[in-house]
Amino acid sequence: MKGGCLCGKISYRISGNIVGINYCHCKQCQKASGSAFATSAAVNIDEFKITTGKNYLKAYQSSEGKDRYFCSHCGSPIYSHRRHANTVYIRLGTLDDDPVKRPEVHIFTTEKAGWHKITDNITQLNEDEELWF
Ligand SMILES: [Zn+2]
Ligand SMILES: [Zn+2]
Repeated sequence: MKGGCLCGKISYRISGNIVGINYCHCKQCQKASGSAFATSAAVNIDEFKITTGKNYLKAYQSSEGKDRYFCSHCGSPIYSHRRHANTVYIRLGTLDDDPVKRPEVHIFTTEKAGWHKITDNITQLNEDEELWF
């Protein structure tokens, strides 16, 4: 599967299967996405590779040990990674192919935007995002 940022400078390839997909409603994801929530796909770090534009990739440490990677040219959020974790969380809107899997869980719903209403029947969790799979 392939994906990339809005301007096209950064592209990536996922060589394995997506482990799982979540909707994260935490306040940080609201800020980082400019929207009500971020949709992210957990991928094994060994199966994720930046194929072009690595020099445009910048990281912002949004909390202790957690980096959010984005395109420094167009601002697209690409993925996040907790240092030492063996998975990365790809921002699913940047994927160009069908991820095959579908979102399985809402996380951090206690921080959900008051103006957004969850209307599906997918499981809602308030725990840390690493605990869901
Ligand atoms: Zn870009
Ligand atoms: Zn979040």
